[in-house]
Amino acid sequence: MNKTLILVVEDDVPIRNLITTTLKTHDYRYLVAPNGACAVMEASSHNPDIVLLDLGLPDIDGVEVIRQIRTWSNMPIIVISARSEDGDKIEALDCGADDYLTKPFSVEELLARLRATKRRLAVMESTAARNDSVFTNGRLKVDFAAGCAYLGENELHLTPIEYRLLCLMARNVGKVLTHTYITQNIWGSSWKGDVASLRVFMATLRKKLEAEPDSPQYIQTHIGVGYRMLRVE
Ligand code: CA
Repeated sequence: MNKTLILVVEDDVPIRNLITTTLKTHDYRYLVAPNGACAVMEASSHNPDIVLLDLGLPDIDGVEVIRQIRTWSNMPIIVISARSEDGDKIEALDCGADDYLTKPFSVEELLARLRATKRRLAVMESTAARNDSVFTNGRLKVDFAAGCAYLGENELHLTPIEYRLLCLMARNVGKVLTHTYITQNIWGSSWKGDVASLRVFMATLRKKLEAEPDSPQYIQTHIGVGYRMLRVE
């Protein structure tokens, strides 16, 4: 049996116990690390499938743990933060974390994040194996080689920026992308615009992409953080 291995990095014992009990009952294997140094060591020696990382650790900062892991691995990292650490959460996503949970979180939320991350892992692996130049998600199809996108049979008439936004979201499907990450990828680090302008481009893209732009199916808004393309069945 090939159970998913999770590295749980959390110094708060009750929260850590809640997480590990949940993992055990849902057939996940896990390792625990009570601090950042131990987390980096466990990550490198056991190569877990997913890391659940608390940002407030007693020794080194959670963001520093991400920086160190990212020097050699793309393993999915879900950060856990308190509301007062919202700035840290964004910094963590900018440094390469994949997703986040805000304390207090429910067991259902935790399991949903893990399922979504596992799906994303499977997609990443199959895409890498096939070396696909076409991305499909529900009725959406992006043909990277041809530079066009379709919704069902209809070609989407996108501006160059909308198309680049769509490609960036598609290549990172399932992952939360921060405003900074998106604007740096689309406009470069010299971009002096603000989040409001990004919001305008996202709104016009959604008008073309979503059947109901007010309850989007493809692109989810994370207020104060960024956007995520959801996997659509
Ligand atoms: Ca903590």
